[in-house]
Amino acid sequence: MALGGNAVAGRRRHVLLFPLAYQGHINPMFRLAGILHGRGFAVTVFHTHFNAPDPSRHPEYRFVPVPDGMSGPAPVAIEDVVSHILALNTACEAPFRDRLAAVMEEYSRDDVACIVVDTHLLSMVKVATKLSVRTLVLRTGSAACLSCFVAYPLLIKRGYLPVQESELETEVSELPPYRVRDLMQLGRRHDLTCKLLERVVGAVKASSGLILNTFDALERRELVKLRRDLAMPVFDIGPLHLFSPAAAAESSLLRQDRSCLKWLDARPAASVLYVSFGSLACMSARDLVETAWGIAGSGVPFLWVVRPGLVAADGLTRLPDGFEEATRGRGMVVEWAPQEEVLRHAAVAGFWTHGGWNSTTESVCEGVPMLCRPHFGDQMGNARYVEHVWRVGFEVAGALERGGVEAAIRRLVTGSEGAQMRARAGELKKVAKECTGEAGSSGLAIGKLVDHMLAL
Ligand code: UDP
Repeated sequence: MALGGNAVAGRRRHVLLFPLAYQGHINPMFRLAGILHGRGFAVTVFHTHFNAPDPSRHPEYRFVPVPDGMSGPAPVAIEDVVSHILALNTACEAPFRDRLAAVMEEYSRDDVACIVVDTHLLSMVKVATKLSVRTLVLRTGSAACLSCFVAYPLLIKRGYLPVQESELETEVSELPPYRVRDLMQLGRRHDLTCKLLERVVGAVKASSGLILNTFDALERRELVKLRRDLAMPVFDIGPLHLFSPAAAAESSLLRQDRSCLKWLDARPAASVLYVSFGSLACMSARDLVETAWGIAGSGVPFLWVVRPGLVAADGLTRLPDGFEEATRGRGMVVEWAPQEEVLRHAAVAGFWTHGGWNSTTESVCEGVPMLCRPHFGDQMGNARYVEHVWRVGFEVAGALERGGVEAAIRRLVTGSEGAQMRARAGELKKVAKECTGEAGSSGLAIGKLVDHMLAL
């Protein structure tokens, strides 16, 4: 039975959500909230104080703050982000237990369909299970990436990991098309990476179902493999942002500078390179300078997101002297953009991205080809798929030099190869749209997910 509109069976049912408080995790969870709310569920969002959402932007949801006891600035280095995620788990466990118990007391138990927890919050999955609250998990990365997490112990046993410099180009025959250098890495701390991934897989296995922000036509083979490996219900209901486009601005932690849309309106079709490295990736001051002069030297019009803190070491993110004059009239720099709308804009010809999964799917869904400069985590694997499997872009590898940057930008935006990549991206855009239709694979999977939630 597929339920639409306000048709949740019987009494209005509640769904509880607990996102991980990072931008790339908050966005998909709020989009899921939008979908479930549209299907008639009342939505309650548990959240940490760190990166807390603004309840006034979502008057239709109930918010329950969970004290995390954290103070100080947000972590910057990736090792610190990993430690922070682990610490959030520990700090929130007891307060979450109290608050979840109170919410369950308040709502009749039968009124709560389930809680959906980010896969990075294993401690919350355990708390919910102990309180007999049925639990699903949302994994915000690709199916291929999760398969990599599942295979991690095997890859260690076979000697692929920890990564050795001399083996970077070695193909991982157990996990095509990955090479060693495409495998998930979180800085230099192999032990931390192992711990984090083991916890993600633990959260998935402890749950009653896995929700993935991907879609069948993009990752058919990977989804088959994942279903075989996990032997549990898997709901590939992405790309989530296509179902719930309004949620983007509402869940943004930084203010989106919308003036860039007006600026794009004045540019010719398919002429502009959009440059953004997401919410966490950092670069050295040297790389910022090479990037800036590469962009300037390419002659291609650009919209560049230079968020505060993009340069890690000294916290000073300053474009080189003379850059503004050199690019006057053909470039715009903003601190944070309405990315989905930017990618949807006809003036955008290409996207230079760090390759976060949200950015990758948002680009694919708008038919925008990519230059990928992966930094950490799943980004290397995503870049591999962009270049090797979907062939809608290519990686800018090795040391950043302005000459190489210039050439890469021209290859993507004005070259014939770039045009072919854009045509393939256009095909993916079409299939992404099809899959989100009512009879498309993701549309149907949402119906199955709702049925599953109600039957738990
Ligand atoms: N984003 C945005 N404005 C920007 C840059 C990024 O709204 O200027 C959004 C983007 O649309 C995406 C998210 O931030 O939904 C970043 O997620 P992703 O997985 O790409 O990267 P992460 O930030 O997690 O590394």
